Amino acid sequence: QSGWTGANERTFIAVKPDGVQRKLVGEIVRRFERRGFKLVALKLIKASEELLSEHYWELRNKPFYSTLISYMSSGPVVAMVWQGLDVVKTARKMLGETNPADSLPGTIRGDFCVEVGRNVIHGSDSVESAQKEICLWFRQSELHPWENSTNNWIY
Ligand code: ADP
Ligand code: MG
Repeated sequence: QSGWTGANERTFIAVKPDGVQRKLVGEIVRRFERRGFKLVALKLIKASEELLSEHYWELRNKPFYSTLISYMSSGPVVAMVWQGLDVVKTARKMLGETNPADSLPGTIRGDFCVEVGRNVIHGSDSVESAQKEICLWFRQSELHPWENSTNNWIY
């Protein structure tokens, strides 16, 4: 869709069950807000195995796949959509590397975790996956675009 790149680019971010259980939700939301991104959607949701199998479809043949699905179903996640200039790429930088051991201090994974199998947060890896993941996790009516709002002047 047009309008999903540039300043209106959107990404799908989820605080994984370990992040929720460790009460990192506020810290994570705070980082995205302070960076200058706009919150378009947010919900606490216990993901079904069906949803997770679609979400992680590309990893279905990996040896860690079943561990990953049980990890992701071990509690509710905080699913979010964030919007802003280059948000997909910038969010991935803010997250750090997949393996926390490779993540620099200052990144979310680099500051808050040590295990690849409990790495606190998900972020879409491309604009295309972001579009798919947003459609998978949210109904259109759950998204609250900032365009034409009175807050238009905020970057
Ligand atoms: P990312 O979440 O950084 O995009 P991937 O898409 O490659 O990383 O993997 C999805 C998730 O699967 C990771 O965030 C992590 O929770 C889990 N994962 C990836 N690699 C491993 C691994 N070697 N062992 C256990 N879990 C893994
Ligand atoms: Mg990924």
